[in-house]
Amino acid sequence: MIFHADHFDYVLVGGGLQSGLLTLAIHHHQPSSRVLMIEQESELAGNHTWSFHPNDVPKTAKSWLSPLIAHQWEGYQVRFPKFSRHLHLTYACCTSERFRKVVGSHFLNSSSVLLTSTKVDSISDTNAVVKNGNVYHGAVVVDCRGPSSIGATDVGMGYQKFVGLEIELEQDWPDSQPTIMDGCTDQIDGFRFVYTLPFSKRRVLVEDTCFSDRSEINRTEHIDRIKSYVGDRVAGSWRVLREESGCLPMPFSAAFLPRATRPLSGGYAGGWFHAATGYSFPMSIRFAEAVAKVSPENAWHAVEELAIRHRKRAIFSRFLNGLLFRLVRPDTRWQIFRRFYRVLSEDAIARFYSHEFTSMDATRIVVGKPPAGLTPWRFLRTRKAMVCPSTVL
Ligand SMILES: Cc1cc2nc3c(=O)[nH]c(=O)nc-3n(C[C@H](O)[C@H](O)[C@H](O)COP(=O)(O)OP(=O)(O)OC[C@H]3O[C@@H](n4cnc5c(N)ncnc54)[C@H](O)[C@@H]3O)c2cc1C
Repeated sequence: MIFHADHFDYVLVGGGLQSGLLTLAIHHHQPSSRVLMIEQESELAGNHTWSFHPNDVPKTAKSWLSPLIAHQWEGYQVRFPKFSRHLHLTYACCTSERFRKVVGSHFLNSSSVLLTSTKVDSISDTNAVVKNGNVYHGAVVVDCRGPSSIGATDVGMGYQKFVGLEIELEQDWPDSQPTIMDGCTDQIDGFRFVYTLPFSKRRVLVEDTCFSDRSEINRTEHIDRIKSYVGDRVAGSWRVLREESGCLPMPFSAAFLPRATRPLSGGYAGGWFHAATGYSFPMSIRFAEAVAKVSPENAWHAVEELAIRHRKRAIFSRFLNGLLFRLVRPDTRWQIFRRFYRVLSEDAIARFYSHEFTSMDATRIVVGKPPAGLTPWRFLRTRKAMVCPSTVL
């Protein structure tokens, strides 16, 4: 039997990054609003370490976002063959554990409601229908069901896949700051790098990442590479505290552009991610701010404005993915990233990660000596498969 269980200002479907950010932003900008969050799993936020540049966070979001920061560093480095660079850009991360604590507390002392272990079957602009037939009504419903909900993989895309181990060491880790790309590793299955976040001297997240043409994750191979990387960097034994993994789409067609849909979709479900980095944190903050600063009835218009603002950049990021996955040989892909860190200023790098880059930044990224194997002839032959950059530059 179907019945209307309750009425809310906002019904957020999914209990991951986007809906958590929305909850915090709504409670900040509209403290009396009632939010319902519905998550299919028994707890929120999965198993992630989300990193971002805190300086990209809009001023109005800083106060509600700062409790999410579990670790912060005043800079980080990148390494490639014959090139390394230290960047003075603040870098921070939020763990699922921290996220559950901060977001979960907003449901304890308010009229907002969190439903876990509840799968949503269908949604409309104002209703979410859960598996047992209950219908939850909101002035606006936002679909935040994440990467798995964007489905089709035959639309032209590469993949960012990774396995990470959070480890506890017997000896001190040599770096006190993150290395967000160590490309001095064997280039197998695309651009390959190791990412490290030192949470303390003896606790580090080490991720083996690959920008690959294929989505399958070979866990054993990733773990073997992590073991050998850690062994090369530090003596003594270590033990695994936690493991995380993921495969994020990196589209190079016009699919999954950030958009204002009906019903509204946020996070990965709505295309609110950076196609060239796979990161969604910066875009999800902007989406949350746009929705939370207006009444629920005006949320769609606010998101439409945001989508228009980000559209050209989203097309350009897809063009970059096209270059990477269609034009450049897998074993030379790393040269694109080395060049990126070699030629761009710190400000331009920060703007790129936060999806706020300018036309000048875009020109700087693509104009210059091409990676080995990328000839003008090869470019002309294959560019049809990609989004065309002439709409941007
Ligand atoms: C391991 C990992 C690390 C990442 N690291 C970073 C990073 O450092 N920085 C960054 O910016 N991005 C990162 N990303 C990319 C991206 O930010 C994350 O994937 C992010 O969690 C996406 O947010 P989302 O809200 O769209 O989806 P999710 O966070 O995946 O949330 C979706 C939620 O919806 C729930 N759900 C799905 N279907 C239903 C349903 N029918 N009913 C009810 N609930 C449902 C899911 O269980 C899930 O909890 C990472 C991704 C992964 C996988």
